Order: sequence, then C-alpha cells, then structure tokens
Amino acid sequence: MSKGDYANKGIHTRLAHIGNDPREFFGFVNPPVVHASTVLFPDAATMAARNQKYTYGTRGTPTTDALCSAIDTLEGSAGTILVPSGLAAVTIPLLAFLSAGDHVLIVDSVYHPTRNFADTMLKRLGVEVDYYDPLVGAGISTLMKPNTKVVFTESPGSNTFEMQDIPAIAREAKARGAVVMMDNTWATPLYFRPLDHGVDISIHAATKYPAGHSDVLLGTVSANEACWKRLQETHFTMGCCAAPDDVYQVLRGLRTMGVRLERHEENALDVARWLEGQPGVSRVLHPGLESFPGHDIWKRDFSGASGIFSIVLAGGGEREAHAFLDALEIFGLGYSWGGYESLAVHVFLGDRTVAKGDYQGPVIRLQIGLENPEDIKADLARGLAAAAG
Ligand SMILES: *Cc1c(COP(=O)(O)O)cnc(C)c1O
Repeated sequence: MSKGDYANKGIHTRLAHIGNDPREFFGFVNPPVVHASTVLFPDAATMAARNQKYTYGTRGTPTTDALCSAIDTLEGSAGTILVPSGLAAVTIPLLAFLSAGDHVLIVDSVYHPTRNFADTMLKRLGVEVDYYDPLVGAGISTLMKPNTKVVFTESPGSNTFEMQDIPAIAREAKARGAVVMMDNTWATPLYFRPLDHGVDISIHAATKYPAGHSDVLLGTVSANEACWKRLQETHFTMGCCAAPDDVYQVLRGLRTMGVRLERHEENALDVARWLEGQPGVSRVLHPGLESFPGHDIWKRDFSGASGIFSIVLAGGGEREAHAFLDALEIFGLGYSWGGYESLAVHVFLGDRTVAKGDYQGPVIRLQIGLENPEDIKADLARGLAAAAG
C-alpha cells in the first residue's frame, strides 16, 4: 500500500503507517535519522543547477520528510515546516505574512509568549497589534481594517479555554483578504483539523502531545496550497530548522499519540466531572463539560478533548493557590504539558486586555496525565483540603 492510500483509513491505522515508506530504506520500519549539513552532488552541472532531491541539511532530509509527510496527512495541508520549538512555530508564520504598516488581530486568550512576541518584536518592526475577544465570532469583521493581513486564533484559549467560532472568524477574515492562522496545540489534528474549517495555517507545539514525554522541543507549521510557498521560503530564509533527533522523536511519538490522547481525554473528563462536585471548586473550565459556555462550539467542531483544563478555586488568592499546589504529590509543578505525567500551575491572567473573565478565585491549570484517575483525584483532594485550611 502506498503512503497516500492511508488518508482514508482510520486514525490509528494512519498514525501507525503515515510518513515514511519502509521499502524506501531496506525495509526498516522506521526512517533513518539523517545528521546532515553537506549533501554531495555527482557532478558540477548537477551542483550548479541544484538538480537533486536533497541539496543541504537546512532544506530537508529523509527524516524531516517523513515527519512532514505524516503531519500533512493528518492536517490535510499542502506542506509543513519543522522548527525548533512551538514558539518558533508561532513566530515564523507571523514574520512570513506581516510587514511594516500591516495590522494583525490576535485572540486575547492567546498563549502568553505569542503576545510577548507581538508586543515587542512585531511592534518594533512596525506592525500594528490588536487583541480581540475570543467570543467575537463573525463580529471579527467590525475589527478588520484595510491593512489587517493576519488574524491569529487559538482555540480553546490558553489557560481559560474559551472556544472560538473558527469557521465564522475564518470566513469573515478571508472575505477581507487576511490570512488566518490557528495555534491548534490543544486539540492536535486528531480532534480538530483547522484547514477543513477555513484556516490557512495550522500551528502546533509538537513539544506537547506529539512528542508526549516532556523531553523534546519541536514546532510544526502546516499551510494550505495558497500559503505554502511563502511559508516555505520564509523557513529557508530564516534558517530556523529542527534537529534530526528531535524530529525523529516526534515521529516516534506520533505512533502512540492516538492511544495516549484517548486516555488523556478519558482521565481528564473523569477528573473534571469529579471536580465539578467538590466544595472549594467554583468552576471547571473544560470545553468537554456540558456546563462550559463554549461547549456547543466544541461539540459542533471538535471530535475530542485533550487532557488539559483549569479549575477556579472558590475564593482566596495567591496563598490558597500556593497551598493547593504545595500539597500535591503526584502532580508536578511545571510549565508545558502533553507529557505522560500530571502537572499543575497557578495561571497568570494579568496580561489580558479583553478576556479577563470574572473568576471568583485563583485559576489553576491541570494537565491530566496517564496515571490512574483515582490517584489523581486523591492528590487533588489533598490540594483542595490544603487550600481550604
Ligand atoms: C507550549 C505552547 C507553545 C510553545 O511550545 P514550546 O515548544 O514550548 O515553545 C505554543 N502554543 C501553545 C498553545 C502552547 O501551549
């Protein structure tokens, strides 16, 4: 069966077989990890014309091709670039499509380092930056200016998980000539395919679920046909390429991502539902819960939920938040998520300008890992008791 044939198979079948074709490398199931700068040419004429598949390490290898091809199958994209971190997967496409004098609209619940990049480097380069309400929907049209070149979405939003009406936003933004980008890290292409909903460029911190083990940093950016050439040119121009071992680790991670995500989803929903009934918890911010305001959009557009959500404590401040975190034994206190282990962090929302929310107490973000849910709940019960005491 050739690689293309897997596009119509079930998701777990695809994850097991997409990317490389074993027959192209002596039958070995996995592709080689090619460490390369120089690639040799057979003669001067071929060298002058650069007329062969691989020409230099920065411009792709059999290892990067395998992962790019796998991601293209999952995203339905025309092409994918690999960059050294999820943050680079945000900054490279923004630099590719924005110039001095342009205007960019960014969702207010965006991943904080994306905001930092926009507020410092994009502004310094002469780009006008505005933030919009994640609940704006088709109302994005009223915020568009003649020079709005990019609308940058992320759904659900970082830390507070507001769901955006991506099809409506994409429709309005594209009608006015803007490129629509989406940071789709939360859902992965298994649970949401942005390009099917009108988005032009889909961005992932592959550091999270694709890598899955808290030991790799990598970003992927996938574009539709219209945006692919410019994205690829920018990638070459910036020289921002990913290292072969990391690329290999993410391809390896993809093979099990489907089963890992199913367990993350199951554990997280189980724990989230249990938390809804706990005294000391004012709200549970999880798009998969019927009580969550954006649940209808999640249900309409997404086919699953991953393992990260937040809770709002019923009152208190930093002291209660720290008491909660310090009482946890299974949960690690650390940034990032998508690995196999549970993590907790006290969320900072002070940078928001629109989506400030009306939260009764501290917001704690929980990444639910692959541990047994009863142990996770017992740990959280310890945290809640400490916060109450
Ligand atoms: C973690 C994250 C990133 C950045 O990924 P890194 O690999 O840690 O740089 C980007 N976007 C979102 C939504 C993230 O959660």
